[in-house]
Amino acid sequence: MAERRIGGRPASPGVAIGPLVVWRPPRRPHPSAPGTEGGERERFEAACETVGGDLLLLVGKDDRLAAEILDFQREFLTDPEFRGAVREAIGRGHSAAAAVREVLDGHAAAFRAEEDAYFRARSEDLVDLRDQLLAALEGGAERPPPLPEGAVLLAHELTPSRFLALDRERLGAVALETGSPSSHVAMLARARGVPLIVELGPVETEARLAALDGERGELFLEPERETLRRLERRRNRIAAERAILRTPPPDGFRTADGSRVEIRINVDDPAALEEDVVRASDGAGLVRTEFLFAGRASPPEEEQQYRVYRDLLLRFAGKPVRFRTLDAGGDKPIAGITATREANPFLGLRGIRLGLANPRLLETQLRALLRAARHGPLEIMLPMVTLPAELEEVRRMIARLREMLAGAGEAAPQPPLGIMVEVPAAALTLDRFAADFFSIGSNDLVQYLMAAARDGSGPVAELLDPLHPAVLRLLGEILEVGRRRGVPVSLCGEMAGDPAALERLLALGLRSVSVAPAALARAAATVGRFGTGADAAQP
Ligand code: PEP
Ligand code: MG
Repeated sequence: MAERRIGGRPASPGVAIGPLVVWRPPRRPHPSAPGTEGGERERFEAACETVGGDLLLLVGKDDRLAAEILDFQREFLTDPEFRGAVREAIGRGHSAAAAVREVLDGHAAAFRAEEDAYFRARSEDLVDLRDQLLAALEGGAERPPPLPEGAVLLAHELTPSRFLALDRERLGAVALETGSPSSHVAMLARARGVPLIVELGPVETEARLAALDGERGELFLEPERETLRRLERRRNRIAAERAILRTPPPDGFRTADGSRVEIRINVDDPAALEEDVVRASDGAGLVRTEFLFAGRASPPEEEQQYRVYRDLLLRFAGKPVRFRTLDAGGDKPIAGITATREANPFLGLRGIRLGLANPRLLETQLRALLRAARHGPLEIMLPMVTLPAELEEVRRMIARLREMLAGAGEAAPQPPLGIMVEVPAAALTLDRFAADFFSIGSNDLVQYLMAAARDGSGPVAELLDPLHPAVLRLLGEILEVGRRRGVPVSLCGEMAGDPAALERLLALGLRSVSVAPAALARAAATVGRFGTGADAAQP
């Protein structure tokens, strides 16, 4: 059989090669006519028992995200209001199955209409719960297929409970014809380190062997020898590098000659973080708080923000977490917050400029952060700072808010306050900024310095070169100011996730970076090789 390559969307990184297992659960049989009211109520109670028991068995002890999803479903099952609504529908002449469908479809639709992304994700969990109850009532459920070692599972879609029922030890990777990178299944796959690609479209196949590249979003059916060799090399390299996540060095990441390098991670979406990566990292070097504000009709309230910040601090268990205040605008437009009529949004009202122009928004976020600071070593970082006056204004704002909190009996500690160094004017006058730390935002700094858009596409893509002498010279100067003034300097742009660029940064003397979670293992390996004379980046 000739090799077939099918492209989809990457949803969880990693490479897997293994026997292909196609899972096509059978269609549910036609619903049976309702029996007596009492009989249907009893069948409903029995189905709740069965599903509740199954859910309990699915939770792995070490799996917070799975526990959270399944707890929600279990609580819903025992909720008197839910039970009452189903009983009432049965009383109107519905079968137990039709009543479950009516009630849960109604709740799922209500959750789907919520503006909060957290609640919207819950609608998916309710549809999953509905299907489990219907399977218990009407049959049509299928036990998960037996998996051979390292199986690549192909399915049309997967619900969280179906994903969790798969044999974890033997599952190599998952490929879905539909699905989405932001679904609960994708979060679970990332949290468990299972490579996943979604949106493949319909796949008819008799193939027996598959190779899946979760980084590039590619599925190969009956891969050729050359494809296998290429993917095997990548898989082995990734496996070797990831070993460091399970057993991080007890005295921290170090270069070959023993110099300590702090490697933190960038958090774009807390739900997508793997526990191994959180544990192995030196903390969070950049929390992009935009995830809280995007896709909703109005900004989240202080209490909601406070809970998310507190939970993240607790998750990092005593390691520092650097929260960046909202960086809306430019490449991160947020409906209802960013201006829509700017000719060039990258050079307009974005980052801290927008926060200072909209002080209620900024103050609400700062208050939530200050309150959360009691739960762990929290740091506050300001984006797109151009002038020292911007930093000073936020410092005064924080002082005022702390006074108000203390007055209300909620005294908050004074968190370190630093700035992103990503506007060339700030980078060139850094000694004038009384910041507690500097963090270089190379994504924006390179685009503004080279006058080439940060998305790296189009005819000027080659100009977006983080290793251009202009960039390296400026980075050297920033490090020098930090050294002279005793202010810690870090770098949290994508540049640090690229091994060749990271070597240049280490050679310049940088000893603190923050990288995307998927790049942590690779960055640690690059640091470990540095200083041996074998620094050249691996393919
Ligand atoms: C940067 O600009 O380098 C950075 C880390 O921030 P963002 O990519 O969120 O703009
Ligand atoms: Mg930036």
